Amino acid sequence: MYKIGIGFDIHRLEEGKKLIIGGVEIPFEKGWVAHSDGDIFFHALTDAILGALGKGDIGELFPDTKEENKNKSSDIFVKEAVKIMKQEGYEIENIDAYILLQKPKLLSYRQKIIENTQKLTGCSNIFLKGKTFEKLGDIGQGKAGACEVIVLLKKQD
Ligand code: MG
Repeated sequence: MYKIGIGFDIHRLEEGKKLIIGGVEIPFEKGWVAHSDGDIFFHALTDAILGALGKGDIGELFPDTKEENKNKSSDIFVKEAVKIMKQEGYEIENIDAYILLQKPKLLSYRQKIIENTQKLTGCSNIFLKGKTFEKLGDIGQGKAGACEVIVLLKKQD
């Protein structure tokens, strides 16, 4: 039995902040404006897993009004979603994602992001694509970055 889930996230970019994607800190002049570390990939992935299970979303699990979630490394969000998934008896068959970002290029960080994600999720079929926004709109102007993720969960034998 399979369940499919979709996740989306977007954060504003500002100078002097850290740019963290998939647990990798990427050297760049701008970074995420966020309550946590702003990791758009891990946030969207968390929502995709929870969505597939019908178990709410990241905002319900980790409210950004809570001080304890401030500046938190986003791998804890993924870990919690994976814990819930395992309790429900599922594993991740594959993860497919788009990172929507005008700059910087992500290609040289992709393998490390995939490795981090494999460690957190146990999934070995992860595909991560970077896409610019053709300089259109806020993402294209470098004011924001977004991420879309689709996961397929499979009931464990
Ligand atoms: Mg977020």
